[in-house]
Amino acid sequence: MIVAPKIRGFICTTAHPTGCAKHVAEQIAVVKSRGPIANGPKKVLVVGASTGYGLSSRIAAAFGSGAATMGVFFEKPGEPERCGTAGWYNSAAFETEAKAAGLYARSFNGDAFSDAMKATVIEAIKADLGQVDCVIYSLASPRRTHPKSGEVFKSVLKPIGSASYTNKNLNTGNGVVNEVTIEPANEDEIAQTVAVMGGEDWEMWIDALQSAGVLAEGVQTVAYSYIGPEVTWPIYKNGTIGRAKEDLERVQRVLDGKLASLKGKAWVSVNKALVTQASSAIPVVPLYISLLYKAMKAEGSHEDCIEQMDRLFRERLYNGNPQPDEAGRIRVDDWEMKPALQELVGKRWAEVNTENLAQLGDFEGYQTSFLRLFGFGLDGVDYNAEVDVSIGVPSLA
Ligand code: NAD
Repeated sequence: MIVAPKIRGFICTTAHPTGCAKHVAEQIAVVKSRGPIANGPKKVLVVGASTGYGLSSRIAAAFGSGAATMGVFFEKPGEPERCGTAGWYNSAAFETEAKAAGLYARSFNGDAFSDAMKATVIEAIKADLGQVDCVIYSLASPRRTHPKSGEVFKSVLKPIGSASYTNKNLNTGNGVVNEVTIEPANEDEIAQTVAVMGGEDWEMWIDALQSAGVLAEGVQTVAYSYIGPEVTWPIYKNGTIGRAKEDLERVQRVLDGKLASLKGKAWVSVNKALVTQASSAIPVVPLYISLLYKAMKAEGSHEDCIEQMDRLFRERLYNGNPQPDEAGRIRVDDWEMKPALQELVGKRWAEVNTENLAQLGDFEGYQTSFLRLFGFGLDGVDYNAEVDVSIGVPSLA
């Protein structure tokens, strides 16, 4: 098949296998160029391993630290005349590269929220690795079926409070800066969002792994969060997703207690705002990201998921100096949140409109990053060539 991007709102319904493989290869090259991560993890489980921060975590662990990795994700394989999802092709490429480098890699495609997936992964750890010394929790999902009650929860991205929220917003399809008004969430929507994106499932994973005896002494587990600047707080930090992230921090403290007997540690890492499949669905955030990219690229501090995750492993989790903030969180959003940079972005936020977006923001960079998530726009890939879209993930064959 010849594969071209087909964008519907904030998703792309096609993905390019060769382009995704190039995207993975470029990330591997970034990690390798920085040399080995001394004292890094050796046996790593990544839940949410196929795209965004989870994929980059898996790459940093494997190619920075020589780790054996198990990855869990929910992706669609391709068929002869129908594209699979980008995360499927990323995982196929990751495993191929890992195998070529002599690294163990095994993947699991299915619902990470289920008891069955947890049991399957635990059996595989017992059989292949014995134990894991690092568990990365990087799920982003719009819904969760609760494994005990069977109830289906849906998350919403809404403000909390009595008033509706209006702010600038970017139509990422055409570059028009308009306004969006979002009605506040009700109590049920808040609770459902916490049930999907909060910490309950992270705790269930760690409980299941710990009671099966497959967590090594000194294990570290990390879940990802975001805080961001005040312009995004009504929709993010103080909104429904922010409540879920507060719950993640609650669970981090609970897990710290549970892991003490193993001399283990649970972390929440606050990461930078980046274009991923998950973040492109959040109102307001893509406009902020466009302004942020422009300012960070200009000062030479821009990082993508791979640079963020490499820095997390190399300079926080495994160098004995995690530099937690007052709430005990790791902050690799430190460069994003530098006061001078935020002041500039805030000033531009007040000024930005459709006409000046190209000067004040990096809309082109936003779109390029978005397409790259699906394997489009990568150097050296012939997009006019026929490509097999039904390739498999080796360990899932
Ligand atoms: P993403 O959409 O790129 O990745 C989500 C991953 O979860 C994929 O691997 C997907 O297959 C997997 N997944 C989703 N539902 C699943 C299910 N039911 N079972 C198994 N796997 C499932 O998202 P991302 O942006 O990398 O987000 C990962 C985490 O990082 C989230 O907690 C997010 O809030 C956080 N974060 C993101 C940003 C950002 O700007 N993108 C910033 C800070 C923190």
